[in-house]
Amino acid sequence: MVSEFQLIRRFFTRATPGAVLGVGDDAALLQVRSGMELAVSTDMLVSGTHFFPDTNPFSLGYKTLAVNLSDMAAMAAQPRWASLALSLPEVDENWLEKFSAGLFTLADEYQVDLIGGDTTRGPLALCVTIMGEVPHGMALHRSGARVGDDIWVSGVLGDAALALAQIQGHVQLAAKDFAACSLALHRPIPRVTLGLALRCVAHSAIDISDGLLADLGHILESSNVGAEISFAALPVSSALQFYIRRPLGKHCLLAGGDDYELCFTAPVAHRPAVEEIATSLGLRLTRIGIITEKRFCIVRAADGSIINIGKSGYDHFC
Ligand code: ADP
Ligand code: MG
Repeated sequence: MVSEFQLIRRFFTRATPGAVLGVGDDAALLQVRSGMELAVSTDMLVSGTHFFPDTNPFSLGYKTLAVNLSDMAAMAAQPRWASLALSLPEVDENWLEKFSAGLFTLADEYQVDLIGGDTTRGPLALCVTIMGEVPHGMALHRSGARVGDDIWVSGVLGDAALALAQIQGHVQLAAKDFAACSLALHRPIPRVTLGLALRCVAHSAIDISDGLLADLGHILESSNVGAEISFAALPVSSALQFYIRRPLGKHCLLAGGDDYELCFTAPVAHRPAVEEIATSLGLRLTRIGIITEKRFCIVRAADGSIINIGKSGYDHFC
């Protein structure tokens, strides 16, 4: 039987070159570099609510950190440290091995040190607190959008929701499409480098975790502005394109969630700068609309008509 102490040592203790003191004492010690602000964010994943209990543990470890890195990206912060609070129903060494491998794979990629946490017995839940640095006054806020700004999104939207729709039996995708959409669902790529590149370019940013309309809505509310979105401009994969005329396709695209792409606004004068970032990162960045002063969000179809999105987007599959 593995003790709590052995479990922490074996699965969650690694070198922490970016910390003064890492795992093993009553608290970690961190040094924020001069001129920097500390960005702190927590995201919790609960079994049955955010993931299926039988989810592949490597993917779960990866995604637990990825969703937190995505919050750093949205603030234009450089992620540096993370702590992990784990509630486990049992000590399953095979599960823990894979979970920690998934988590450290991403931590290594972004040079994030796991500097502490807590481990307890209980229903399966995973909670990461991530910390990053951003030069004083350079963070991107939700409240920075200005009338006339372009609205941009990274990558393609809706694939994770489409994979979930298949898992829930609402749709039957071709095998290769399901594989691609499953990757979006289980291994989202946090847009950290994009966030950093946007520091002097964007006015506001958010990461899309709850669906485009809901998250763009947070920018609009915080900034006291509205938006007009061009439905035809929204970036979708060929898998989602197939369903785009159906309520299911629209739901995935506008309200699906779990995208972990960035939605940001930038002045028109910065279009060349945004396009340069897209080219240098090899990342699709799409202009999807503009910020208006009307305090609400309109989604316009290609024929000029307004698509009825209801209050909170598409809530039901029809
Ligand atoms: P305490 O009793 O002071 O809360 P713990 O026994 O919970 O200490 O933790 C011992 C050390 O292990 C601490 O440094 C803590 O931050 C770290 N730790 C506990 N659980 C985890 C975990 N899941 N991942 C990383 N570090 C952890
Ligand atoms: Mg403890």
